[in-house]
Amino acid sequence: ERVLSSEVISNDLSFEQSLRPQRLSQYIGQDKVKSNLAVFIEAAKMRKETLDHVLLYGPPGLGKTTLAVVIANEMGVNVRTTSGPAIERPGDLAAILTSLEPGEVLFIDEIHRLPRAIEEVLYPAMEDYCLDIVIGKGPESRSVRLDLPPFTLVGATTRAGAVSAPLRDRFGVLSRLEYYNQEQLTDIVVRTAQILDTDIDWNAAVEIARRSRGTPRIANRLLRRVRDFAQVRANGIITLTLADEALELLQVDRLGLDNIDHKLLKGMIERFRGGPVGIDTIAASIGEEPSTIEDVYEPYLLQIGFLQRTPRGRVVTPSVYAHFKLEAPNQ
Ligand code: ADP
Repeated sequence: ERVLSSEVISNDLSFEQSLRPQRLSQYIGQDKVKSNLAVFIEAAKMRKETLDHVLLYGPPGLGKTTLAVVIANEMGVNVRTTSGPAIERPGDLAAILTSLEPGEVLFIDEIHRLPRAIEEVLYPAMEDYCLDIVIGKGPESRSVRLDLPPFTLVGATTRAGAVSAPLRDRFGVLSRLEYYNQEQLTDIVVRTAQILDTDIDWNAAVEIARRSRGTPRIANRLLRRVRDFAQVRANGIITLTLADEALELLQVDRLGLDNIDHKLLKGMIERFRGGPVGIDTIAASIGEEPSTIEDVYEPYLLQIGFLQRTPRGRVVTPSVYAHFKLEAPNQ
C-alpha cells in the first residue's frame, strides 16, 4: 500500500476518527471556506432555520468529511453519514431521509457516484423537504407526496465536474477545499503529535509537512509511521535527523514524491523527451488506469508545477529536470 496515498488505507479509519477536529476553531486552514460557513451557520441559527445544503469539493484527504462533522457540531445537530456507492436503490435513500430528525445533517460522500434515478429522489427532498413515492404498478399506480423533516445535505466529491447540473444547482453553498500550505500542515502535524502524546521537534514537523503533498491525511499518516520509527530507534522523540531517516526509509523524497511518481516522471523524460505524452500512454507506462493517473497521481504534480496539461498531452517542466539533477533538453 502506498504510504503517500491520499485515500483511506488500512488502519487509517479509527486513527483518523480520533484526530478529527470537532469545531470550526480547531479546523486548520481553508480560511475562506471557514469564514463563509461561519456566517451561514450563524445566520441559520439566528433565524432558527436549518442550514442550506452544502457541496464540498476537492481532492481526497483534505478534510471534507471532517468539515461535515464540524458543520453538524456547530449547528448542534447529529450527522448521518453515507456515500454515493452505498445507496443502491431509491428505497435506500428514502429510508435514510424518513429516519432523519429535524435539522440533522445528512452527509453523502462521493455524491457524484449516485445513480441518476436516486438523484431524482433527492431533488424534491432538497428543495421542498418531501418525497414523491409511486404506489402500485402500471395504470393503477399513483404518486404520493410524503413530508420530510427539514435537513441539511452536505455532499462531498473529488470531481465537481462529475456532479450533474440539476444536483449541483440545488446546493446553496458550494465550497472548494484547497491543498494546504506547509505552515498549515505543520500546525496539523504538531496538533496530531499532541493528541498522540508524542514529542516532536518543530523542524521535524516542518519536514513531515513538506513531504505530505498538501494533504492532512498524508501528514497524519507520515507522522504515525515516523513515530513508530522513533519509538523503536530513539526513545520516542522525533528529531529532524530521525524524521529524515524514517522518511528516507519510507521512500518519500523531499517534495513528497515516491517511486511511482519518479517512475512516471522519469519515464516521460527518458521515453518521450518530456512530452507531450497522452494520459493513456502515461497510464500504461506505470501499469495504472488513466482515471487513477488523473485522480491520484497527477493533481499533486500539477499543483507543484511538475506537470503541465496541454491540448496534446502532459509535459514535464524544467523543475522536474532540476529535481532529478538532469539536464533539460534544448527546445
Ligand atoms: P476527506 O473527506 O476530504 O477525504 P477527511 O475529512 O477524512 O478528508 O480528513 C482526513 C484526515 O485529515 C482526518 O482524520 C482529519 O483528522 C485530518 N484533517 C483534515 N482536515 C483537517 C484540518 N483542516 N485540520 C486538522 N485536521 C484535518
